[in-house]
Amino acid sequence: MTETEVYQNNGQKNERPTKLAMKRGFASRCPSCGEGKLFDKFVKVTPQCSNCHEELHHHRADDLPAYLVILIIGHIVVAAFMMTDMVFKLANWQHLLIWIPITTVLTLALLQPVKGAVVGLQWALRMHGFGDQPDYDDSVALKEH
Ligand SMILES: [Zn+2]
Repeated sequence: MTETEVYQNNGQKNERPTKLAMKRGFASRCPSCGEGKLFDKFVKVTPQCSNCHEELHHHRADDLPAYLVILIIGHIVVAAFMMTDMVFKLANWQHLLIWIPITTVLTLALLQPVKGAVVGLQWALRMHGFGDQPDYDDSVALKEH
């Protein structure tokens, strides 16, 4: 066992299954219990689960959910656009009329679930204070050099 595994699992079997935590987060549920709500607002994570009282404010999802949504939606919309363009000859304004609303709706529909999955992943991997260790403070390391 490496030092990293000891630090992450504290010498015990990991009781935080990653896939289940991400699946619960994707469903906008607490990654720990799967019952409490994960979000207070659209993409604002609740500080603490109302069901199991797991602290959820440790997450550092930052821009990752947005990048993942761009990656996913980009592949869907660009592929659909190219296939449509091969079959039908449409003007540019007609393509814009079709693909802008689809892109907007898909993005809004996917942003919260993807952020939930990212928070679930961080919780399962005990990142950013989700484990027993306090979150690593970058400012301390910078002062030491
Ligand atoms: Zn919970």
